[in-house]
Amino acid sequence: MKRKILIFIIVSLLLVATAFLKKSFSAVNVNVEKKYSFLDNIQKKANITSFTIYGRFFNLEGYINENNSDLTLVFKNDDLETEYSLNLEPTTNKTIFKTNTLINEGINLEELKQGEYLLLLKSKKNDKVIYYNLINDTKYKNLEYYTITKAGKNNKIDISFANNLNKNLFLSCKEENLPDTYYDIVIDPGHGGKDVGASKNGYFESKINLDYALKLKESLENLGLKVKLTREKDISIANYGKNSRTGIPYETKAKLMLSVHQNSSVKNVNKGGLEIYIPNHTNKEFASLVVNNIKKYTTSPISKNTSFKIDEGIYLKTLDKIDLEAIKKEAEKNNYKPYEKATTDSTYYYMIREVGGIITNSYIDLRNPNKPGNIYYNSNHGTEAYLLELGYLNSSSNLKILLNEKDEFVKAISLSVKEYLNI
Ligand SMILES: [Zn+2]
Repeated sequence: MKRKILIFIIVSLLLVATAFLKKSFSAVNVNVEKKYSFLDNIQKKANITSFTIYGRFFNLEGYINENNSDLTLVFKNDDLETEYSLNLEPTTNKTIFKTNTLINEGINLEELKQGEYLLLLKSKKNDKVIYYNLINDTKYKNLEYYTITKAGKNNKIDISFANNLNKNLFLSCKEENLPDTYYDIVIDPGHGGKDVGASKNGYFESKINLDYALKLKESLENLGLKVKLTREKDISIANYGKNSRTGIPYETKAKLMLSVHQNSSVKNVNKGGLEIYIPNHTNKEFASLVVNNIKKYTTSPISKNTSFKIDEGIYLKTLDKIDLEAIKKEAEKNNYKPYEKATTDSTYYYMIREVGGIITNSYIDLRNPNKPGNIYYNSNHGTEAYLLELGYLNSSSNLKILLNEKDEFVKAISLSVKEYLNI
């Protein structure tokens, strides 16, 4: 009798385990071969050299070994085919293709319809339609993305090279709530604890940054967004590692990060006002929205500082030769190889550069044994980040506005986020 019960329990457990395994495998290991009737018509292969997500944008780069200027990318299943244009660089026997050249543009994952798709290259050369299978030439295997919380709902998007014969690049988009540890937006109140940042007449930047960040969090949450602060109190936090300033955006898979600071400079004190620092190779859309809304809702001046200025209130600072020389010298001193990704193309501010993974050339790669490094520098999924220098704390007139118009500033930034993310 006892033996029968034991056998019954074992059989039941086996059945449950089989059902569970089937379920967990089916999520990743879709039977692409049987599912899509058009698969037999795929005759050629294209190689993928990069696939990344930055902010809300998915981007692909790759090549085919022939000259072809009639290529598009398609998301395809048996019912529908969505076509995306590509930037093409055709030469005699090779064509390089890119979904975009700016990192905050490309395939907007927020706009994808729920469903399952194969990603293929499509050629219409000489009016003949040919599909190319996408082969993975990268060390990365998959990407996971949750859409921005809208009316309490999210879609989960999985992009991976399927486990089928052709290793097709496959994308699925289905409704699934944002996991507890994931967020839509991260706000980083600069400095904190012993590091007070700029100060004037007993006012500390670290404290003002936190006041603004807390208020902004509340305002963005009222839009239905899930918001995380890098610090919620007047404490110092690590720049690198788990649960750090740069770690949190990766860990929470945030789409956007705003680093809140106040400026200070004797040289620019009379030119003071708002300065927004943006990542290299991005469009200025978000920064322009903030500048225009700050002008509309506050009495704050927009900075007249001309160093690194690319537009009204918008600044782009990249590493210069002196910075690179310092990086090289430090590497020589500590006996390690300087990271080749640190170039004059890299964004200067670490809070912008280091949260973008390989997309923004994060370069602190743990080779210096004397310094903590960015443990996430190699990620193919990054957070779109901006540094907001709201005003000059050492300017009495700027300080007065910053202290009196917090609600107006927050309204302007919050509305900019709303417009930019299309909420
Ligand atoms: Zn600061």
